[in-house]
Amino acid sequence: MASGHEAHEAAPGQQSRTGPPLTRALDREAAQARRLLAAGEWRPAPADSEAAAAVLARLTAPLPARRGASAGTLARDRDRRLQRLLRTTLHHLDAGAVSPRAAALLAAVARAFLPWHATPNPPGAAAAPRYGVPSVPPTEAGEALLRELVPLFASLASASPPGTVPLTPPAEPWQVRYAGRFRRHGRPAAGVWTAETVGCPACGARTGPWTVTCDWSRLSLGCPCGVVTDGHGLAFSEVWLLLPDL
Ligand SMILES: [Zn+2]
Repeated sequence: MASGHEAHEAAPGQQSRTGPPLTRALDREAAQARRLLAAGEWRPAPADSEAAAAVLARLTAPLPARRGASAGTLARDRDRRLQRLLRTTLHHLDAGAVSPRAAALLAAVARAFLPWHATPNPPGAAAAPRYGVPSVPPTEAGEALLRELVPLFASLASASPPGTVPLTPPAEPWQVRYAGRFRRHGRPAAGVWTAETVGCPACGARTGPWTVTCDWSRLSLGCPCGVVTDGHGLAFSEVWLLLPDL
């Protein structure tokens, strides 16, 4: 996976430009996953298959059948399907049950579908995560990705033959420098969000530039003062979705 040492400035609205979804990580992770599955080097464990099945259900969800619906309603249906895909993917990425290899793939899917973070339904609370995503997401480009991803997630979701021993190839660790704040979100109740900026446990610095190191089982933040922490409480998506598509 990507490793780089340039500092990336935090840019609220970094992805606010219109244009195709960010798929560099997805292209790479999907190609690797296809190759590993075809070679028998990845025999998904039950947790990976279950997550893949949930994502597959979103990838293959039919649009609602509506008679005489307005163009606006039909457009909302299309975007809502992609938004549900994003939310399901994020749920399984951050739940921590899947293997690092599957997490890398889910993270790449989440980045590609991030334009639907707030469309058609914006986050319901002021403290919910925001990514400065476009108000008009690239719907056709997103739908084109569905068709590409269905066979891959169908392979991951299909149960292994009885007696098969799961085999999960390791995920490649990556390291990126990031200048900016990371926000840890909580949902103490339905519709209620809290957000807190992460600071260095030693010096209290909150804007880095952080050296982010991740192998999709652990994510650590290195502060310029020299202290490295993995006790930040951040979910994978709370870091990954802020980073550039390397
Ligand atoms: Zn520090």
